[in-house]
Amino acid sequence: MIETKKKTILIVDDEPDIVNLTDKFLKLGGFKTLSCNNGKDALNTIETNHDEIKLVLLDVMMPGLSGFDILKEIKSNSKYDDILVVLFTVKSFNEDIQKGRSLGANGYLTKPFSGKELLKYVQDKIGN
Ligand SMILES: [Mg+2]
Repeated sequence: MIETKKKTILIVDDEPDIVNLTDKFLKLGGFKTLSCNNGKDALNTIETNHDEIKLVLLDVMMPGLSGFDILKEIKSNSKYDDILVVLFTVKSFNEDIQKGRSLGANGYLTKPFSGKELLKYVQDKIGN
């Protein structure tokens, strides 16, 4: 039997409920997950695991380093060229989408989202 390697997704959000739900659905969808609840941990986790991380789901509004800070860091380092970054944005925050786009974000997922929407979005981005 051929064993397919699970793709790894890093979830970064300061709200534990969002991390837990996202983590649960991605695992059900057959992905491997890593998670962080602040920007500093996220940067360390990316540094250590960038070879396997395919996608970062990144909250914009976090205390300390924001999602934009992390996005800038990822997009300015050629080591991380193969990592896609999708921002978790709040519906009414159009400015966030524009700022994210100018910083090189690979997509946006509007909170709140359902598990089904999340999985479909992620599968469209990186496959199963
Ligand atoms: Mg937040």
